[in-house]
Amino acid sequence: MRQKIVAGNWKMNLDLDEGKELLINILDTDLNNDVLAIVAPPYIHLNSFKRILSHTNIGLAAQNCHHQDSGAYTGEISVKMLKSVGVEYVILGHSERREYFQEDSLAISFKVNTVVQNGLRPIYCCGETLIERQDGEHFKTIAKQIKQGLFNLNEMELLNCIIAYEPIWAIGTGETASPAQAQEIHAFIRKTIAQQYGDLVANNISILYGGSVKPANAQELFNCPDIDGGLIGGAALDAKSFATLTHSF
Ligand code: PEP
Repeated sequence: MRQKIVAGNWKMNLDLDEGKELLINILDTDLNNDVLAIVAPPYIHLNSFKRILSHTNIGLAAQNCHHQDSGAYTGEISVKMLKSVGVEYVILGHSERREYFQEDSLAISFKVNTVVQNGLRPIYCCGETLIERQDGEHFKTIAKQIKQGLFNLNEMELLNCIIAYEPIWAIGTGETASPAQAQEIHAFIRKTIAQQYGDLVANNISILYGGSVKPANAQELFNCPDIDGGLIGGAALDAKSFATLTHSF
């Protein structure tokens, strides 16, 4: 059975007081208990957020990590460190990391491996640019990102991953992929996984959609057969919207 998930990527937003206020507002809402809700605040909030979330079902994610356990990597945070403060998920391969920090799928695959080996769950993002879609290259791009980033994992390890399809042209732009466009790619990702790992693995991985998801458009996306929820940016910064999204299945 695939998990239904709504994960909020807070990106580089909200200082500690603002972040705690949003978290407490989220805790005050009526979240759907059948859906796994995850928050991914900035690194600096993780330790105190874990304490606030300790008696709740809300998952805690980091937005990045380094692939080494320790060493001379000034400014970096290891998976071991994340684990030590109770982080359970790590967003990897977000298009903003790929674009602004030159992370390619190979570099991201090292992080995926370290996250999995430490018993945490990657939320692995993939997605095409507008030009790639206009050129009809989007299937090729997605297949390459999935294969390079994830296909050195074994079956059990892959089953621990969550995948997020996020067309770059839809992130933070107000543009959303139509349900048909999103469903087509989600089915393609599942088929790509099935070819390598078999149907059982492919059918048990949660694949989230991300890109300007909000309460007004979530239901039609989340009701597609291969869409298991969303990775949410802007709308996750509002407690009521975030809660509504958990009820949009
Ligand atoms: C994201 O950054 O992962 C995202 C989907 O952002 P938004 O919902 O704001 O488009």
